Formats: sequence, C-alpha cells, structure tokens
Amino acid sequence: MNVVKRTDEAPGEHIVCDSCEKDAVIVQRDFGIGRNEYWGNKSVHVDYRNCCSECVDEVC
Ligand SMILES: [Zn+2]
Repeated sequence: MNVVKRTDEAPGEHIVCDSCEKDAVIVQRDFGIGRNEYWGNKSVHVDYRNCCSECVDEVC
C-alpha cells in the first residue's frame, strides 16, 4: 500500500510560520486585482495564495 505524502498546505491547516515563528493556521488571501475589463472582455482576476493567519505573510 502506497502512502502519498501531501506536500501542499491547505487552508485551515496548522503550521509553524517561517516568518513569525508562531503556531498559525493557513488562510487564503486573494491577491487578484478583481474585476477588470480589457478591450471589452470582462473578467475577474483572482489569485488565491496560502498565508499565515498571524503575520499574513505568504506561506511557501
Ligand atoms: Zn507568520
């Protein structure tokens, strides 16, 4: 039986942050620019990234 080790963090997961060294929970923040329109093409740009709940730095 193979055990697949998960390497990517998920929102709500507990971590020790590299930046602030606190016990934190992963939260997702939207770094996208939101609604935009380019030559009549409307789109919503979203860019969710995993961040620390304590210092709000991005978790890599
Ligand atoms: Zn942190």
